Parts: sequence; C-alpha cells; structure tokens
Amino acid sequence: MTGPLAVVSNEVVNLMYVVAAILFVVGIKRLSSPTTARSGNVLAAVGMVLAVVFTILLPEVAHYWLIAAGLAVGTVVGLVAARQVKLTAMPQMVAVFNGLGGGASVLVAVSEYRRLAPPDGALAGDILGAALFSALIGAITFSGSLVAFAKLQELMPGRPLTFVGQQALNGLLLVGALAAGIGAGVAEETVWVYALVVVALALGVLFVLPIGGADMPVVIAFLNAFSGLSAVGAGFVLSNTALIIGGTLVGASGTFLTVIMSRAMNRSLANVLFGAFGAPAAADAGVGAAASEDGKSYREVDAEDCAVMLAYASRVVIVPGYGLAVAQAQHNVRELADLLERRGVDVKYGIHPVAGRMPGHMNVLLAEANVPYPQLRDMEDINPELPRTDVALVIGANDVTNPAARDNPESPLYGMPILNVDQATNVVVLKRSMSPGFAGIDNDLFYRPNTAMLFGDAKASVERLVTAVKAA
Ligand code: NAP
Repeated sequence: MTGPLAVVSNEVVNLMYVVAAILFVVGIKRLSSPTTARSGNVLAAVGMVLAVVFTILLPEVAHYWLIAAGLAVGTVVGLVAARQVKLTAMPQMVAVFNGLGGGASVLVAVSEYRRLAPPDGALAGDILGAALFSALIGAITFSGSLVAFAKLQELMPGRPLTFVGQQALNGLLLVGALAAGIGAGVAEETVWVYALVVVALALGVLFVLPIGGADMPVVIAFLNAFSGLSAVGAGFVLSNTALIIGGTLVGASGTFLTVIMSRAMNRSLANVLFGAFGAPAAADAGVGAAASEDGKSYREVDAEDCAVMLAYASRVVIVPGYGLAVAQAQHNVRELADLLERRGVDVKYGIHPVAGRMPGHMNVLLAEANVPYPQLRDMEDINPELPRTDVALVIGANDVTNPAARDNPESPLYGMPILNVDQATNVVVLKRSMSPGFAGIDNDLFYRPNTAMLFGDAKASVERLVTAVKAA
C-alpha cells in the first residue's frame, strides 16, 4: 500500500501533537517521585503512541507496509529487551536506545539531503543546516553510545583507553567533520554528507574510549541529551513539530541529568569527559594489596553477632549500594527491616544520589520490594541522624561511604558528598571482599575501629541475618 491512508488534516495532527507534548511534560514531571513514576511513564507512552499514529495519518505519508514492518520489528525487539533486561543492566539498555535514536536521526538527515540535493531538488538553507547538524550529532551519539554499551557490558575494558595526542586527534576530527559539512553546503553533493557521517562516527568512538566505566552513566546521560538534539535537527528537516518537541525534552532532561550527576560526584562535566577518571594506576591498586602494604587492619563480624547488634539497637540506618542490586537482595532487606521494626527498632534507608549505576537506582530497587517510601531518606536528611545511629548497615555500597571523599584532599574522590556512616556508633559493611568500588579507590571506612566487615554475597548475608535476628 503506498497511497494515502489518511483522512486527517495537518491541523488535526498538529492538535494531537500538542496533546502528546502535554502528556510528555506531565509524564516527565510525574517521574520525579517513585509513587507517581509508573503513571508518568504510561502517560508519556500514550503521548508517544498518539504522536506516531497521527504522524502516520498525515496526507504526505506513504509506504505503509514499510512503516508497519518497522513498527512491528521495533515493538517486538523493544518489548523483549525491556522485559528481559536486568535492573543492573539498565544503563546499557539506555545507551543502546540513545544510540539508535542518534542513528535514526542520521538516516533521516542523509536521506532528506539526498532527496533535496540537486539535480532533483533544492536545498533550502535552514533545512540544510538542520540536516548537517542532525547528521553530525546523531553519528557521534550512535558510535559513542555503542562504545559506552560495550564498556558497560564488559565486551571491552571499562578502564579509560588513552593514548598520546588523543584530545588533539579528537579536535582534528571535529574540524574535519565541520569541513565536510561546509563541503556539503557549498558543493551540494551527497558524498560530503557521507564523509561527515564517517568522521563523526570515528569522533564518537574516540570521544568515549578515554572515559572510564565509572563515569559511563554520566556519559550516557550526556549522549541522551545529544540524541535529543539530533532528533530536534531531524524534526526541523522534516518540519515535524512532535519530533522537535520530543527531541527538545530529551535534550533538556538529558542535560539536567548530566549536570545533576556531575554535581553529585562534585566533578565538573569537563573533568568527567576529559579527565580519564579511574585510569589504570588507581583502578589496579587492589585494596587487599594496599591494605597489607599499608599495614591497615580490619575487623570481621559473623551474621549471628551482627544480628544481635541489630536486634538490640534503637536506630538502624540501611545504606544500599550497587552490590545490593547485583545480589538482588532487596526483598530480603525488606524482610530484615520489617523484622527489626516489629522488635521496636527504628529503621531508615540512607539513599545517596549516585549509589548504584544510575540516578534513582536504589529507589527503584527498594520500590520493587515495596519498601515503605517514608523510610527512605535522602543524603542531606539522613546525615544529621547518623551520629545518633546505633548501627549503619552498609549493603553493597562502597564509594558513596568513603570518608576520604570528605577528609582527604589527596583522594581522587575528595569533594564528593558522602553518607557519613563512619559517624554511627557501629558500622557493618556487607560485601564479598575488600575490593574497591567502581571508582577503584580504597575505602578508609573499612579500617575504622567502629567498622566490621560481614563478607559474602549480600543476599546470602542478609538471609543469614534474618534467620539470626529471628533467633535473637
Ligand atoms: P560501588 O562503589 O560501585 O561499590 C559496590 C560494592 O558492592 C563493591 O565494592 C562490591 O564489593 C560490592 N558488591 C558487588 N556485588 C556484590 C554482591 N553480590 N554482594 C555483596 N556486595 C557486592 O557502589 P556505590 O557505593 O553504590 O557507588 C556507586 C559508584 O558508581 C560511585 O563511584 C558513583 O560515583 C558511580 N556512579 C554512579 C552513578 C549513578 O547515577 N548512580 C553515575 C555515575 C557514577 P565486592 O566485590 O567486594 O563484593
């Protein structure tokens, strides 16, 4: 079928785009709280369905079978991927989505350029600018996101891959891409756009290679903003209002997220993107070795003794981190907290803004286990309570509790706000070994006199704690 399916005028479509835009904005607003996030997601998805359906009904749209095939493949792949992906792998999934968004914008830009270029068409200045912008940003997003995916999926080393002259080469590639863009504008020949895309793809790869795995979530948010910008460009090329609005929202929210994450780590965006944070020297300094070299010692506790500490405490603060997500121990943690509450212990959860591997990671995880929302406390709210806390139970968290970030100006983490768990009367850290966290940096907390280590997989350890608290 190639003829118009459409019965709908441009005015009706534009009206539906406004409805879709309102749904996007309300949806994003509702994502700001775990209690409204689900409905926010649904609202935004309904907005997207409206935008897609009414776009297909536009009079100038043709090739319905192709569109239907694309929609079918995309829906199946998206559904299967979203249902199967583990929460810990969500950043990778977002990276792939960003990359595909950027790639789609490149295809739109290149095909419209080809369609409008002489001898068959005429390239208006604004369309030309938007197409080149979209191709440049979209191609960087596509290849950069694939590298980010490969790093997080451990298909390639997560550490920063650097070489001499890397930033200069990136600068040269950027100049080359801009030169190809000028060529495309002046000569109006498609070969220049292809050249621009190839150079931009190389730039995307080389831009992400020197960024360490620990900073990948920030890079993904950054590339998310880029995918939005490339969609805005594609929207101008196609004169499609929904694409312009949707792209702008993605661009703006991705930018906010990038800034929020950088701030939460107390690092500038430039430091994240060009600082090669977590380079081999730091990452390879295994904590076990560092501990023995420095002669630092740590204390171990078994589940039974820890359970007694917890059962007879007045206040317990649970600090979840990435390891909790890996172990999938959220339901067991909830069970432990319920048990303690029934014994009259005041239990709260201290949530660091960058605990885990994506913003809101811990909130999502704990919401999955129906942890009562009022028990969750942000870092600013829980820190003043920690000196009055009997036991801080650190479950799979590491970097976000490292006192060196507060006290040691020499530490690469210095300046990152932390949860001051070391100020609690007792600290018990649940992890499998003395290995460092994602930043690859030894944690001073483990060697403090009021800290005890409970080694083992977090799920197994919490299960043992539950049994022992029941017996206490
Ligand atoms: P972390 O520093 O990465 O430490 C996680 C700890 O969990 C590890 O030390 C690991 O120790 C332990 N672990 C892993 N699997 C476990 C299991 N099955 N059972 C028990 N323990 C386990 O985590 P975090 O304290 O949550 O800090 C997050 C890090 O990611 C920060 O460096 C942050 O800057 C970075 N980051 C986060 C975001 C974000 O948006 N959330 C964004 C950018 C960067 P063992 O191997 O010894 O068990």
